[in-house]
Amino acid sequence: MTRRQCTGEYKIKPIKKKVRELLGYPYPARIPKGVFVEQWVGISTDEFHRAKDADVKYMRNRHPLIDMGWSRSDCVRYLTSLGLADTPKSSCLGCPFHGNAQWRNIRDNSPEEWEDVVEFDAAIRKGNARANATGNRLLGEAFLHRSRVPLSEAPIDHVTAAEWAAMQEELTDTGPDLEELEQGVIDGCSPWACRGEVELAQDDFGLAS
Ligand code: SF4
Repeated sequence: MTRRQCTGEYKIKPIKKKVRELLGYPYPARIPKGVFVEQWVGISTDEFHRAKDADVKYMRNRHPLIDMGWSRSDCVRYLTSLGLADTPKSSCLGCPFHGNAQWRNIRDNSPEEWEDVVEFDAAIRKGNARANATGNRLLGEAFLHRSRVPLSEAPIDHVTAAEWAAMQEELTDTGPDLEELEQGVIDGCSPWACRGEVELAQDDFGLAS
């Protein structure tokens, strides 16, 4: 996994920009003390550890599901009662933490979005100029799928022997399990609870390979 700035660049920055605009203090204006927005973040009780404060004083996070004592299954029950049982976990379309099931779902049910992610996957092949954790260019190539082949050709219908072997090695090092290869990272992703935050923390300390 290389350096990723997805949550910071695509979510937190635009949200902060919009919030400042809504408050009437666009960057770089100083926001007076006591002026803030309240932001509701949908983290359930079983992912309590992901509930965090915003990192700026002009935003205050609230976690209504935790306040109500709702777990993930309470949410699923509620959504089911509204006829929304198939609600997927929140994440970007082209998230490298997707499992095969999520990729198949996009390919089979949303051709336009599939075209989009395939195109995105091709576009990241060389990374950007400061692609890895130490800010250097990529020596190899970047891929969205674990198999490290273009998404359009990736084995999303089954786990390959090579992926299985790599997984066995990683298992000793808290790597993914079969379920994760299929279903992806269990958590959804929100600006204040990124599904890749373990790797992000490693990136911050330059530990990611
Ligand atoms: S879902 Fe989260 S971790 Fe995945 S690409 Fe989007 S911001 Fe990044």
